[in-house]
Amino acid sequence: MTGKPGASLLDVRGRPLRDLRISLTDRCNFRCRYCMPREHFGSAHRYLGRDDLLAPGEIERLARLFVSLGVRKIRLTGGEPLLRRGIEDVVRALASIPEVDLAMTTNGVLLPAKADRLAAAGLRRATVSLDSLDDSVFARITDTAVPVARVLAGIEAATQAGLTPLKVNMVVKRAVNESSVLPMAEYFRGSGHILRFIEYMDVGGTNHWQLGEVLPSASVLGLINARYPLVPVAPSQPGEVATRYRYRDGAGEIGVIGSVTQSFCGTCSRARLSADGKLHTCLFASSGTDFRALLRAGASDAELLDVIRGLWTVREDRYSELRGRPETVAKRVEMSYIGG
Ligand code: SAM
Ligand code: SF4
Ligand code: SF4
Repeated sequence: MTGKPGASLLDVRGRPLRDLRISLTDRCNFRCRYCMPREHFGSAHRYLGRDDLLAPGEIERLARLFVSLGVRKIRLTGGEPLLRRGIEDVVRALASIPEVDLAMTTNGVLLPAKADRLAAAGLRRATVSLDSLDDSVFARITDTAVPVARVLAGIEAATQAGLTPLKVNMVVKRAVNESSVLPMAEYFRGSGHILRFIEYMDVGGTNHWQLGEVLPSASVLGLINARYPLVPVAPSQPGEVATRYRYRDGAGEIGVIGSVTQSFCGTCSRARLSADGKLHTCLFASSGTDFRALLRAGASDAELLDVIRGLWTVREDRYSELRGRPETVAKRVEMSYIGG
């Protein structure tokens, strides 16, 4: 392999390539309204076939190349990553790469069955998505009959397996689960888990996003601070997307991810690899570069590295800074495909 280990590759705006999100499948057992609305992701939707997916060896090979260019964090995602058959093999392969912080974002439902094996395979941390503790609100958002208790059992299983510090992601939609903000804060205070409130984003096109549905992070903070006073916490590392706060009474930490109202493009160090091997340099990209085709055509490591370097060094993405301007209206790939 070529490429100096640890060397930083910078894009046009001086941003290093530090994080790689790898989508393991475009399928999911939920149909969250903001991500995979059932009317678009029903039986007529064409999902990737098994041969379309990158094999564990292909994922590992690409990941090693990315690490040689400076990537230090790899997050497995999807779709629902735990639906990927043989996920432990992928985790084991990636965990064997030195210097990599390996994490996963999941809806948590399959964690009771899989957390121990994932931890044994080398997964370090889990982030579990949960938008409400109220079954009816949860069902309205996720469009599934799965009760909240199953996600909570997943969080417990991940905790017992040592996939900690565990983060809980809550996407907040105005008037949909706004009333769940305080109960969620109350429930996770003192648990050791870090609850993060994410602004609802205009990813893809099927969710028919409207700005009026976004509850700004400032409002979320206002709600919580009025009940449980908060103190800002300095970022632990550059490029961190969440703005951190701790409870003044010592009951732990929360974060807000103001993707819409406080864009963080200036420090964005993330690339995303779809389950079929397309590399996207922004969550709001309309297309990606086909690494599966390169791999299967026999490209050498040196050639693959050249393509990655070529893509990153011309990267200018800053969608969230430009949101609303005419040049940003291009068709965007869906989050369940690109990896959240
Ligand atoms: N299925 C897994 C899960 O839900 O955790 C992993 C994939 S999901 C696409 C990754 C994250 O993206 C989840 O936390 C989800 O809530 C978030 N997400 C999906 N659509 C979103 C949207 N339109 N705006 C903000 N966050 C979104
Ligand atoms: Fe599935 Fe995650 Fe998207 Fe919900 S947010 S539909 S759980 S991929
Ligand atoms: Fe990064 Fe694109 Fe999101 Fe900006 S809009 S923070 S460049 S993924």
